[in-house]
Amino acid sequence: MNDQHRPNLRSIQVIGAGFTGTLAAFLLAERGHRVTVIDASEHPGGLISTLPHPRGDIETAANGFIAHPLLERVADEIGVKLVPASKVARKNRFIWSVDPAKPGRQSWPLTVGESIGMAFRLLWNLATGRMAPRPLETLEAWGLRTIGRPATRKVLSTAVLGIYASPVSVLSASLVVGRFFKKSGSATTAVEKKARPKLRGTVAPERGMGEWFTKMRMHLDSRGVKFVTRHEPELEATPLPNPTETWICTSAPEAARLTRKVAPELSRQLSEIQLLPIVTASRFSDSSPQDPAGFGCLFHLEAGFNSLGVLWSSDIFPHRFARGTRAETWILKGDALSDDEILDRVQRDRSRLSGSGPTARDTPCEIKITRWPKAFPLYDIALERTLASLPRPPDGIVLCGNYLGRLGLSQIALQVQEKVEELPS
Ligand SMILES: Cc1cc2nc3c(=O)[nH]c(=O)nc-3n(C[C@H](O)[C@H](O)[C@H](O)COP(=O)(O)OP(=O)(O)OC[C@H]3O[C@@H](n4cnc5c(N)ncnc54)[C@H](O)[C@@H]3O)c2cc1C
Repeated sequence: MNDQHRPNLRSIQVIGAGFTGTLAAFLLAERGHRVTVIDASEHPGGLISTLPHPRGDIETAANGFIAHPLLERVADEIGVKLVPASKVARKNRFIWSVDPAKPGRQSWPLTVGESIGMAFRLLWNLATGRMAPRPLETLEAWGLRTIGRPATRKVLSTAVLGIYASPVSVLSASLVVGRFFKKSGSATTAVEKKARPKLRGTVAPERGMGEWFTKMRMHLDSRGVKFVTRHEPELEATPLPNPTETWICTSAPEAARLTRKVAPELSRQLSEIQLLPIVTASRFSDSSPQDPAGFGCLFHLEAGFNSLGVLWSSDIFPHRFARGTRAETWILKGDALSDDEILDRVQRDRSRLSGSGPTARDTPCEIKITRWPKAFPLYDIALERTLASLPRPPDGIVLCGNYLGRLGLSQIALQVQEKVEELPS
């Protein structure tokens, strides 16, 4: 069918070729729209890339994502094989407990009594319909109300610190857990939300996250999507005679900059969104029988670790590392530390986690540090307020990104899909 018979086909420029922008381009092109992707850098991927190293892969941001039918379908289409985290990683996830009754590395830091207390509270709140977060409620207040103090302090606070890099006392409950209590935005999304993924838990492309973008780029090229690289377009207030729809798929500060002339109030509010600085240290050494096995360990804020947590990368996706290699990814907040300071902090955390003093084995073979001064948005009450009052973008402009209430890749994917479905077909 030619375009004359499909009047709703649009000409769309997608600004940003990270995960969000390339997925938007994929879904828009699939519906027949004419798509051009524009990015300031040379290669797609944005924060995400996989750097080769003789001992294995280094991921610069996301190591994987939660299995989801939409992303499984996209992976099939672009020719990426997704692999699940190993059995040992799926089975063993640890939290560092500060409880004298159950100190140190634990897979479940609550005592039996605390677990039963939490289960009763949870069931009662579920039965009485009180689980949904209240507007402007912190995650801490929500936790205390729904799962009780021990579970909030020992489980919830540590688990979210490793993902959102912020304490429960500042995080917004609506932004972090609200989606579990919301109805889906669109019919297809609802179907895909209910559909079960073929794989379970954390998955990643067989050859690392970078493979997603190499294959995505090839797929988009084959579908006639144009790429304009090393270019930062300006959006002008005066509409052009033949307007092209613009999808802004960047971070919040860049979206603020891009909308400055076309939507000043929207731009002002976007510019107030706070971004967190994150450092990751990928560490390679020889493996040892003393190394703990599993997904990794998240540290309690009060435990005094320098890091938020550690992923045992060579346990999660062992096929991506040389035999006999121990690969770990340490995650720290802040970007002002020198390489030596980061090394020293990782080393101290590592010795403490393994319960040993520094030994010859603890000397890193190699360490690669990635700094993100603006890694991802702070999911706090201020962001909840901003999102509640954010003006609609002007006609012809669509915003997508990790600052709009969904941080993880699978959740961003759903957001993009919902926006694509809002277009008349
Ligand atoms: C250390 C770290 C670990 C993470 N781990 C996980 C994880 O395990 N699982 C998970 O699901 N998520 C994880 N995340 C989050 C996830 O990686 C990000 O939310 C996601 O990659 C954001 O993708 P994006 O496309 O929205 O933004 P970006 O990756 O920032 O891409 C934006 C793109 O826009 C381009 N751009 C910006 N401004 C302009 C402009 N003016 N003109 C043209 N181009 C422009 C940039 O060059 C970039 O390519 C992690 C994030 C970090 C930092």
